[in-house]
Amino acid sequence: MSELNLSGSCLCGSVAYEIKGQAMHFYHCHCLRCRKATGTGHASNIIMRPENVTWTAGEQLLTYYKLPEAKRFSTSFCSVCGSPMPRIAPDQSIAVIPAGTPATDPGARPEARIFQASRSDWSCEAGGLPAHATYPPRDG
Ligand SMILES: [Zn+2]
Ligand SMILES: [Zn+2]
Repeated sequence: MSELNLSGSCLCGSVAYEIKGQAMHFYHCHCLRCRKATGTGHASNIIMRPENVTWTAGEQLLTYYKLPEAKRFSTSFCSVCGSPMPRIAPDQSIAVIPAGTPATDPGARPEARIFQASRSDWSCEAGGLPAHATYPPRDG
C-alpha cells in the first residue's frame, strides 16, 4: 500500500497527530461495532504500525474505550468534541486511523469492504471493491 505522510485532527482541533510510514491496510468496515462507534453505515480505517503515529497536540484530551467483551475492539476520541481519533490496539499490534480525520487526501485508497454480512441495506454498496463477509481472508 501507499507510503503516507500527513497530519490530522479532531473537529475542534484540540487533538492533532501526524502519521508517517507505510499503510498496511485500508478498509471500510460494516460491522455493528463500527456502525455504533461512528454512527454511520461503516467505518473507514487505515491500518498502520503504532510507531507510525505521533501526537502533536492534545494527547491528554483523548479518551479510550475498550469494549469489555472484545479482544481488540476499542475506540479513541477527543473528550472535547467527540471526534474519533487514531487508536492503538490494546495488544499494540496495530494503529487504526479514522480515514476521515486527515484534512488532505491520504493518497491510499480502500482495498475492500469487510463485515459485509453486517451491512445495513441502506449503507454504501460494494462499489467494485472486494467485499468480505467478516474479516479479510488473511486476518482470518
Ligand atoms: Zn476535539
Ligand atoms: Zn468494524
